[in-house]
Amino acid sequence: MMTRRQRIISLLEEGDYSPSELAKALDMRGRGSIKIILEDLKAIQRTLKREGKVLLIKPAECRNCGFVFKPEIKVPSKCPRCKSEWIEEPRFKIVVRD
Ligand SMILES: [Zn+2]
Repeated sequence: MMTRRQRIISLLEEGDYSPSELAKALDMRGRGSIKIILEDLKAIQRTLKREGKVLLIKPAECRNCGFVFKPEIKVPSKCPRCKSEWIEEPRFKIVVRD
């Protein structure tokens, strides 16, 4: 039986996911689920270092003006440039460090 974090790791080793897609894949619902996923990703990022793997982050992007956020483990709510809330979530993937 895998823990939630182990399931996230195995998904991210197979492909790239946004926090919402991870929540859906893990059958998590409700407003708090994205926050839990983000906390899990931060913890996973710390443990991966010991295994020679890295968490790749494709940064969030404003779908209105194309502004690219910093590659961080968070989901921005608003674009600092155009104030739009139409934000493409960041995407995450785990790869072996070479
Ligand atoms: Zn924008």
